[in-house]
Amino acid sequence: MLDFIIVGQGIAGSLLSWFLHKAGKKNLVVDNHHLSNASRVASGVTNPVTGRRFVKTWMAEEILPFAKETYTELEQVLNETFFQPLPILRLFDSIKSQNDWSTRTSQQGYTPFLQNQTVINLPKEKVKNDFGAFEITGGTRLDSEKFLAAYRNFLQAHQQIMEEQFCFEELEITASHVQYKEHVAKKIIFCDGAQAIQNPYFKFLPFQLAKGECLILQIEDFSADKMISSEAFVMPMGNDLYYVGSTHDWHFHNDQPSEEGKQELLANLDAFIKTPYKIVNHRAAIRPTVQDRRPFIGFHPEHTAVGIFNGLGTKGISLAPYFANHFTQHLTQNTALLPEVDIKRFS
Ligand SMILES: Cc1cc2nc3c(=O)[nH]c(=O)nc-3n(C[C@H](O)[C@H](O)[C@H](O)COP(=O)(O)OP(=O)(O)OC[C@H]3O[C@@H](n4cnc5c(N)ncnc54)[C@H](O)[C@@H]3O)c2cc1C
Repeated sequence: MLDFIIVGQGIAGSLLSWFLHKAGKKNLVVDNHHLSNASRVASGVTNPVTGRRFVKTWMAEEILPFAKETYTELEQVLNETFFQPLPILRLFDSIKSQNDWSTRTSQQGYTPFLQNQTVINLPKEKVKNDFGAFEITGGTRLDSEKFLAAYRNFLQAHQQIMEEQFCFEELEITASHVQYKEHVAKKIIFCDGAQAIQNPYFKFLPFQLAKGECLILQIEDFSADKMISSEAFVMPMGNDLYYVGSTHDWHFHNDQPSEEGKQELLANLDAFIKTPYKIVNHRAAIRPTVQDRRPFIGFHPEHTAVGIFNGLGTKGISLAPYFANHFTQHLTQNTALLPEVDIKRFS
């Protein structure tokens, strides 16, 4: 008998399967290899200080070092490089935003991320930059597409993946186990991202999905080695390629790239970039965002063998390692789930 069937091999399913594997559990991952899953389209950035008011990411001190440790370990295990530090330059848009930043630099807990306390001026021939910029330290980038491909190879090598659409009609649930086709397991955990809104077991959870679009640009003679962030952000990917992201659309009709999304990104980009560029790619995906911006972890109130790890919203790359490990400890050592992430908060 298997210990766990995991549905979905985005960042949530991959990391949950990894920590359960490390804990000695026997798992099977079922994934339909959806080409626009959020984890493949993500820029992969972990940014400790975000938003118009430069607020520290929730649990930054715990989740960011843990993400770094996990992705570095996975680089060694998978024998691939997909994770690197990413300094971030955030442009000021007014004197007020300079003042807000200055206040933050002296606040408790911000020092590790706002070490450089000087206003930085970017080259005026490349960037429109009336008020200067500040540097955020501690940011990183996961090349999520490369990581997911490498982890899929790992699962294949361990015969732990079934590449198909999970069919709910084929799932049988009893009090002690579940059966999917010929596979019997103690529990099944859904890590199905935005597709969870079609999942009949978790319809009571308040998802509030947000579509995101991004562009990949070729910009010659730009030579940026740091991410530049304003209304849009420009992230260096190497070989003169840059990721420009991202839109947030709560009223979408499909998961495909749209003309409106492209125009929004270009308008935000043209507000601060002067250098000519060429569009190389345009992508879109749906984020599994939720009303209270906290992950969904736990078990169905009646079907205690049916669990969920989802709701990673706009920050799956940062949150997934810490909370996959947190859930694994709950599953294997019966430790308590943090009430803020436990889906019992909706029952
Ligand atoms: C444009 C954009 C930029 C982003 N940038 C960042 C960023 O820089 N940093 C950050 O932290 N986050 C970012 N995010 C958010 C991040 O992508 C998400 O938080 C994260 O990817 C969610 O991961 P997930 O594994 O829950 O879902 P997904 O990545 O969507 O994975 C779900 C998986 O389940 C599979 N699946 C679902 N249903 C079934 C079924 N019935 N049968 C078989 N398989 C199934 C899907 O095919 C998919 O592989 C971004 C998102 C977008 C859209």
